[in-house]
Amino acid sequence: MTPTRNNVLEYIHSLFDEYGADAYFGEEVTIAEHMLQAAHFAKKSGAEETLIVATLLHDVGHLNNEFGDNYIDQRVDNLHENAGSIMLSSFFSDAITKPIRLHVAAKKYLCATTPAYYENLSDASKRTLKFQGGAMNEAEKREFESNKYSEAAVKLRHWDDAGKVPGLRIAGLEHYHAMIDRVRIR
Ligand code: FE
Repeated sequence: MTPTRNNVLEYIHSLFDEYGADAYFGEEVTIAEHMLQAAHFAKKSGAEETLIVATLLHDVGHLNNEFGDNYIDQRVDNLHENAGSIMLSSFFSDAITKPIRLHVAAKKYLCATTPAYYENLSDASKRTLKFQGGAMNEAEKREFESNKYSEAAVKLRHWDDAGKVPGLRIAGLEHYHAMIDRVRIR
């Protein structure tokens, strides 16, 4: 299915249906459960709709990436944050795609600025940090902070990290249909 502005909701559904049941690299939730849980926490925090939708879709680049699901073992960074945000940029504004693009940078930023943050990461997230370039240095931190979307990306990142709870029952993708429809580009 080729995504267009008219069918993007169906397209997102088809990605969740086709790949959502895949394991989420070393976590005890599927990739769809992970994205829905992260969105659930964003919504619970009272985030604005663009940021809830960004959180819901932040790993969409994992749902159709060319490296498959064993990229951790291959020690390759699949740059899923770029793949996802580029695909979505035809359908959603910067308020949605930029925090998605920065969600790995936000992890590297938090590892550099908040010692407890790294300790609380899942084992899989600690492993991927290595080939994502590790914690940020001073120059990288400054550059990240100067980005208009860095705060949103840090918030998204915390919900991302929280969305790894085995067996947590939360609303499905249908729950976000109207919201996605409200924030998409027409
Ligand atoms: Fe994630």
